[in-house]
Amino acid sequence: MNKSVIVAAAAALLFMSCSENRVNPFFEESKLPYGAVEFDKIQSTDYMPAFEEGFRQFKANIDQIAACADAPTFENTIEPLELADDLLSRVSSVFYNLMETDADDIMKETEEKVIPMETEANSYLYMNEAIFNRIKTLYDAQDKIGLTVEQQEVLKKYYRRFVKGGALLDDKAKERFVEIQNRLGELRIKFAKNNLDESNAYVLNVTDIKRLEGLSQDQLEAAAARAKEKGLQGWAFNVQKPCWIPFLQTCKDRDLREQMYKAYYSRGNNNNEFDNKEIVKETLTLRLELANLLGYKTFADLQLEDRMAKTPQAAYDLLMEIWKYALPQAKRERDEMQKIIDAEGGKFKLEAWDWWYYAEKLRKQKYDLDESQLTPYFSLDNVRKGSFMVAETLFGIKFKKVDNLPVYHPTVETWECLDADGSHLAYFYTDCFVRPTKRQGAWMTNFTGEYNFAGNSQRPTIVNVCNFSVPTDTLPCLLSIDDARTVFHEFGHALHGMLTQCHYPTVSGTATPNDYVEMCSQIMEHWAIEPAILKQYAFHYKTGEPIPDALIEKMQNAGHFNTGFETVELVGAALLDMEYHMLTDYTNFNDQKFEDEISAKLGMIPQIEYRYRGTFFNHIFNNDYCAGYYSYLWAEVLDCDAFQCFKEEGLLNKETGKRYRQNILEKGSSDDLMKLYRQFRGSDPKPEAMLRNRGLIK
Ligand SMILES: [Zn+2]
Repeated sequence: MNKSVIVAAAAALLFMSCSENRVNPFFEESKLPYGAVEFDKIQSTDYMPAFEEGFRQFKANIDQIAACADAPTFENTIEPLELADDLLSRVSSVFYNLMETDADDIMKETEEKVIPMETEANSYLYMNEAIFNRIKTLYDAQDKIGLTVEQQEVLKKYYRRFVKGGALLDDKAKERFVEIQNRLGELRIKFAKNNLDESNAYVLNVTDIKRLEGLSQDQLEAAAARAKEKGLQGWAFNVQKPCWIPFLQTCKDRDLREQMYKAYYSRGNNNNEFDNKEIVKETLTLRLELANLLGYKTFADLQLEDRMAKTPQAAYDLLMEIWKYALPQAKRERDEMQKIIDAEGGKFKLEAWDWWYYAEKLRKQKYDLDESQLTPYFSLDNVRKGSFMVAETLFGIKFKKVDNLPVYHPTVETWECLDADGSHLAYFYTDCFVRPTKRQGAWMTNFTGEYNFAGNSQRPTIVNVCNFSVPTDTLPCLLSIDDARTVFHEFGHALHGMLTQCHYPTVSGTATPNDYVEMCSQIMEHWAIEPAILKQYAFHYKTGEPIPDALIEKMQNAGHFNTGFETVELVGAALLDMEYHMLTDYTNFNDQKFEDEISAKLGMIPQIEYRYRGTFFNHIFNNDYCAGYYSYLWAEVLDCDAFQCFKEEGLLNKETGKRYRQNILEKGSSDDLMKLYRQFRGSDPKPEAMLRNRGLIK
């Protein structure tokens, strides 16, 4: 669809429906430079009409492509598809970001109405046989029609999306396909509900304060409030992590620790009304049937095809390579803790519910770090300057503060990202401070995307959102070291979005698979804590003194605490996820037996449990991380190995930066991801740097 047609259609509609003199800002092109969003003009009531018009235009555009009488070409089929949702994506990018930060009742109502419309629009495209036939014709002839590498990638993505939506199935198979999908949707909801209900139902009620020796005053006060809320005497504890972890770390009473530990790890596995075992079995069975219908041997094969890893075996092998080093390290940690128990005269063997308690003792002995000594060196301003300095030096870009862009909240700040020759690359917004309407966490999103084809082009607008404390007149916003890493992390995603030089939205910027996208964010965290870089940005907010070497050393040392345990529980869960989805028959599947067999095969030690067990593994039974939990580790191998390249060639080496920019940051997923990585690194990613970073090898 060419853009002028869309704009004309929108203008015509406006003319008819506009009873007041005000124009819905989504219905006309932004008057700001580079199409920046006119936040000062948007009202909450603008979204619904914009969504409605967006859906209408989207469907009209699809109809037009489907009705095209000419033989399919990339230009008359794929290119118009890339812009078919132009208005829709403009509205939703703004709407969904503001839903997370500043939602009001009108927006919440809008969201409820929009969700079913989105599902409908999705099927409108992916159930459209005429469009699929055009795509298939192109796909089957892709080698002969002179496509660029990027066009081939875009075409492949469209083709696979249709095929995975059942486009190649005959009517009977299609019917079964839809049936399976619906049932999987139900199971997913039921799984999540059981999980939540069982977690919420559990309470450990203690009425004898003597049994709570070791807990801090804060923990006790929170527990007393929790008990009161539930109408109980004494103190109450639950299995939510903010309560559960400190409890295991501090409670001296072994029996209570055991109760809390078991309550957490047996969720969904108590043979009660919240039990998830049958749901797990049915889900796995149906996922396999779905994969088989689509022509894949296992569900893992289906899931991995579009990821960087490509095959379950590649992911599995990498996990096992890490496992090899993590398990011995965990055993050493276990033995070290046993020594503490023995020295204290405790005549027992360390059990799983003792781990946090003795690890905490070990941490205090060997890795103690007083966070309050660090924060004065990490004012938000300095950390941001540090992240800009790294990017500006490496990639030859510049961040210029701009004050003439409208923002959606008074504390939002704006920058322009410029290339070395002064040309505009992107606008960058930061929304850093906590407020009641904002969801927790930190993230990056696009307000506008990037594309450049057939006379249409747009540079991106990116936002980083965080939840830091609001500065006061006397105190700037001071960050913990984790928060400082978060600034660099989200900024890494932002750079991936801002420096992109793709032609098509489908492959542009951060539109890359899970096992790849976090490389670009996580790699930035390395600069955040690298001593030579710290010396260039971590200055005391009062004295201006750079962070002392002794503190840096303590910080680095603390990073190696308990890494055997953490890696084993994480890799264990990733292996469990992969094993779940690599089976080819679930007839006699028994969850408990299955997990036991995997543990025996891996040599898992009884003192450590998988971070998630099947019956409460939300990532894989209520989320899209099924056969994908490995992604975190895969991306970590990539970011450590990529950063190793900078360590070898110079932390701020411009040539290395240029190679990284050209092969990774500019390319999105417009080419084979492993090929892009090799072009940057000169070799395949190797796990050594990651293992060293986690302190698993010297
Ligand atoms: Zn991230």
